[in-house]
Amino acid sequence: MSGMIKQAILIVKGKARMAGGDHFRFLAAFMSAVHLALTGIGALLGCHMLAGVSFAAAAAELSMFYAVKRNGNFFAGITVVYFATCLHGLAACVLMGWTYGFFLYNLVMIPILFYMVCMTEDLLKPKKYVIFCTGANCIATLLLRRYVYLGEPWYVYTKETAFWVSFFNHLVCFFFITMFSEMFILELRASRRELRRQTEELKRLADYDGLTKLRNRRSMLAAWEGITREDYCVVMGDIDDFKKVNDTYGHEAGDEVLKMVAASMQGAVDKEDYVSRWGGEEFLMIVFGSLAYALKVVDKVQRELQNADLVVEGKKIAVTMTFGLSERGEAVGEDVDELIRRADRRLYIGKNSGKNCVKIKDE
Ligand code: GH3
Ligand code: MG
Ligand code: MG
Repeated sequence: MSGMIKQAILIVKGKARMAGGDHFRFLAAFMSAVHLALTGIGALLGCHMLAGVSFAAAAAELSMFYAVKRNGNFFAGITVVYFATCLHGLAACVLMGWTYGFFLYNLVMIPILFYMVCMTEDLLKPKKYVIFCTGANCIATLLLRRYVYLGEPWYVYTKETAFWVSFFNHLVCFFFITMFSEMFILELRASRRELRRQTEELKRLADYDGLTKLRNRRSMLAAWEGITREDYCVVMGDIDDFKKVNDTYGHEAGDEVLKMVAASMQGAVDKEDYVSRWGGEEFLMIVFGSLAYALKVVDKVQRELQNADLVVEGKKIAVTMTFGLSERGEAVGEDVDELIRRADRRLYIGKNSGKNCVKIKDE
């Protein structure tokens, strides 16, 4: 019980969401409680017909409360509760007259039906279902209004009695519609929050490499478009003989090397600099500042790799990298592609001249 109260408080605070069938069970429990109260009122007034129809409605709603478990037939449940409440409202109007406010239940059930159907995915054609139920309710209520207007109520009580019964019905309906409106808002807020969280997660997955947690090529190029500074260098780095690492120690050991290299690069740059996984074992950095500063960064990475202690199967894996650098402003009219091409060309030169080196010129 205390668990249920705690859960209800969390839902009201917007920190938790109602589980699958909770909305329906709340509706069925609430309506059966109201109809049981009306059974008592009917008995007190000596209006046995009202007591009878109220008890029948309460019994139908209670049986649906228990029948519709989490994966139960929500469609049957909501149909029974909806029509039990509407028919009860109309029957009570015929028995006691329009002034007692029993027709309010017929009005209140319309937005509640929309809400309940909106909260479930059980129905194949929710629109048609809602239109049918609402239409039937509206037509029956309007026809009956005419009938009640022309005829006399079956039971007649004092004005004071009519007022108090009507007061009870108004109170219940105001409370009921306010409760469900609040539940709807809470649900809407919770699903918006969930959507925001999922969007952020998707954006992170789309922009960052899952293994190294570095930006991927696409998001690096996108970030590049926002760069307004002119003083930066492009550093293209490639792990030497990485295929051998995979072949000798296995793919998982290769992944560990990639993570270690990514961490070394990330640790070597300043906050405003960018590091990305450009391709398999190829990394691209944008470091803001002079060529001398970029060379310092590369030196830091190389020393870090030299001192790294990556041991697999008792053997230390030696990791080296070759780098090609290009500086913004080296050539006239260069664009991003040209900067990348130049760094890549120098990296290739480095590979051909023995690897584990840094090249800043095309020679
Ligand atoms: P070089 O010194 O000339 O760069 O030689 P290399 O062996 O490093 O380069 P090569 O292009 O021959 O091989 C790159 C290897 O990187 C091949 C590919 O299987 C491996 N690789 C690419 N992505 C991943 C990855 O995510 N994890 C692992 N473990 N290996 C990867
Ligand atoms: Mg390589
Ligand atoms: Mg490569």
